[in-house]
Amino acid sequence: MNKNEITLSVCRELARARKGKGMSQSALAAAVGCKQSQISMLESGQPEKIAEETVVKIGELLGVSLAPASEAGTAVSSIPLPRLEKGYCPDCQCPGNVPYEVGGRLLFWPTLQTGKRCAYCGEVLETVCPSCGEPVRGGACCTSCGEPLVTPVLPEGIRPGEWAEERRRMLRELRGLISGQGPIERGGDA
Ligand SMILES: [Zn+2]
Ligand SMILES: [Zn+2]
Repeated sequence: MNKNEITLSVCRELARARKGKGMSQSALAAAVGCKQSQISMLESGQPEKIAEETVVKIGELLGVSLAPASEAGTAVSSIPLPRLEKGYCPDCQCPGNVPYEVGGRLLFWPTLQTGKRCAYCGEVLETVCPSCGEPVRGGACCTSCGEPLVTPVLPEGIRPGEWAEERRRMLRELRGLISGQGPIERGGDA
């Protein structure tokens, strides 16, 4: 298996299979021994960020064939999920995560949600910090280790500030249409 052969459609299929099992990115990461952010990158079509053998394990675990020509693997039993309190959506492109720029760095302020899946996009919610594993308490970064909760996985060459601004404008319109609620800005920029 060569990672270069892993197509975008396979990456999408891996994400679809994981969600179908109700497994969060972090649960899958724990099961195969990698980081949640690497799962996020993989599912976004960047398999080069993750060890080849790990990708193979993920394919086996989810019952997804990595190469179009090979036979589909058989699914193994899914990993039991921890009991959920409040979670956040790990998908940086999700409308539940509001992007903003701090010193050229793109951060995301997640909407904390109850339940198992994201109300906005259907992704399985994460409840702990991807870096240190502490439960999330709100905010863009972990209150224990300070690392960002949502990993930015964005196209090359974007300008974080401009992208974040455009994105917030879009989200405001989107949410206004859905719920009639006011702006979702959290202080700072008017
Ligand atoms: Zn979401
Ligand atoms: Zn942390």
